[in-house]
Amino acid sequence: MEIVKNARIYVAGHRGLAGSAIWRELERQGFNNLIGRTRSELNLLDSVAVQKFFTAEKPEYVFIAAAKVGGILANATQPASFLFENLQIQNNLIHNSHISAVKKLLFLGSSCIFPKLAPQPLKEEYLLTGPLEPTNECYAVAKIAGIKLCQAYRQQYGSDFISAMPTNLYGANDNYNLETSHVLPGLIRKFHEAKLSGAAAVTCWGTGKPLREFLHADDLARACVFLMKNYSQSDFINVGSGQEVTIRQLAELVQATIGFPGEIVWDTTKPDGTPRKLLDTSRLFALGWKPEISLENGIRLAYEDFLKTPAK
Ligand code: GDP
Repeated sequence: MEIVKNARIYVAGHRGLAGSAIWRELERQGFNNLIGRTRSELNLLDSVAVQKFFTAEKPEYVFIAAAKVGGILANATQPASFLFENLQIQNNLIHNSHISAVKKLLFLGSSCIFPKLAPQPLKEEYLLTGPLEPTNECYAVAKIAGIKLCQAYRQQYGSDFISAMPTNLYGANDNYNLETSHVLPGLIRKFHEAKLSGAAAVTCWGTGKPLREFLHADDLARACVFLMKNYSQSDFINVGSGQEVTIRQLAELVQATIGFPGEIVWDTTKPDGTPRKLLDTSRLFALGWKPEISLENGIRLAYEDFLKTPAK
């Protein structure tokens, strides 16, 4: 599907990690009628405000990159907020996209939707074949509901709503708050601060043994725009990089990039989370997309971004 350059494209969550990358990619491709609203301009939890926004702005294409997101600790300690807010945000956006006859919508989920002990790499069809990882079950349940909502609107009304499931993301505009961040931005901040203060060691969480796959947000953004143009099916589609490392290897990579001379200590009172979360991205690769940013390069880019980010 060709999308005209002046199409009205709404990126929900355009200041966040995924949304800001999608926004930059759309601009890079010459789209010139992008619509974004900050949290203070539009509260996505407020169904009346969201309805008014859609009526006034009439977006033709919608990317849903708005969500309450967080790392393992935030998810485990605020389950109600993760479930309620994500359901509310996606319900408002998906339903109003239907009401205002949006041409196409892309909903972003997460690889945590898959059962904790599903075979790896995770194929799309493993959804709902077993129990979820408890540390982020509420977030995962909300994202599964979002996928199902897109599929249900397609089935009932013929809406061209698609879903993409990215693996663990990192990049510019990440959350560097140590309590709520994901592992990569958390480690960047910890190693950077330890280097500056001359600390002897950096404490990382868990055993360091879990495996995680990482995808740079700019690669995700290219995939999202690619899917918006080239994919119109009910089945959601995985977006991964195939770049899988243990958390220990990740910590060593971040340590080397930042140049911290001290030691790494593991705090095993903190949870490991799911043992492995590698996506099978062969469906998307078969459509002709592939990632471009290696993990080593990506960490370097992310560290440069961190150094430019003023308030942390
Ligand atoms: P997950 O992928 O949903 O489990 O979420 P995270 O990105 O928060 O955590 C991934 C893994 O990194 C888990 O095994 C964490 O225990 C581990 N980890 C090690 N150090 C840190 C840290 O400083 N912050 C976070 N968020 N995770 C860490």
